[in-house]
Amino acid sequence: MTIIDPPSSIVNKHMWVPQQNVFSGAQPGSALVIHKTGGGDGTAEGTASYFQTGTDKSAHFVVGQNGTVVQCVHLADGAGANCCADDTHNSWWNPLIAKFTNLNLCTISIEHCDQSTSNSTPLTSAQKASSFKLIKWLVGQYGFDIHNEIRPHNSIDATICPGNFPWNEMISYLQGATPVPTNPGADPAFQQSYWNSNNIFIGAVPDITTGIANAWIHDVAQGLWRGGPLMHEGKIMWKGQIVPWQQFVGGFYTWENGQPFWHSNS
Ligand SMILES: [Zn+2]
Repeated sequence: MTIIDPPSSIVNKHMWVPQQNVFSGAQPGSALVIHKTGGGDGTAEGTASYFQTGTDKSAHFVVGQNGTVVQCVHLADGAGANCCADDTHNSWWNPLIAKFTNLNLCTISIEHCDQSTSNSTPLTSAQKASSFKLIKWLVGQYGFDIHNEIRPHNSIDATICPGNFPWNEMISYLQGATPVPTNPGADPAFQQSYWNSNNIFIGAVPDITTGIANAWIHDVAQGLWRGGPLMHEGKIMWKGQIVPWQQFVGGFYTWENGQPFWHSNS
């Protein structure tokens, strides 16, 4: 099989990690391993940039909360997401461990951005759509057995990765079910955990009763990606007036003359 990377209909951006951090020419393809980041800023670019500069770990793909897919490692090479099985590993891996020892040499890995360290934020609708599309492409390419050869990170070692990844929904999507157009943003429980997902709020209860918080809830419920709050609501000098504002992963709101205004980072 000639190994090719996914087309631009599947992958939006390339942010390659340094070649010395990959297993060059390993040609992995025995299994696909699903991860969640358990931290970070919710963007695929943020995690990819960490892979490029802050660590020797990596994954082939990162799926951001806004649905952007970044590829960091060529499929011809092994990435650095899975490595070594511990005592808790599922025995399904045993033949591969016997053959490769380091599972990075035989697995393809996908990270999903989740700001919460407990990997408990549900995938956004955009993130789910991009992820499932990517997985389906890989299944088509490699002929993975969807019940056995797509595996959670915690089948390799003891970790809370991939947390609440929607496994059953993924399997039914791969079995040909119409993609579930669920918008988790409309669910108050999702809004609550999304709002609280940012680590800076651990130990402090963020105020969800302000006008800006309500604007955020309204927008998230429409399926618009905003990211979690990065600060409590404060004041800023804006167009010659001091106005309330609050910064989020994807941009910031100002509150002007009784109305919210969203200003996206991109
Ligand atoms: Zn993981």
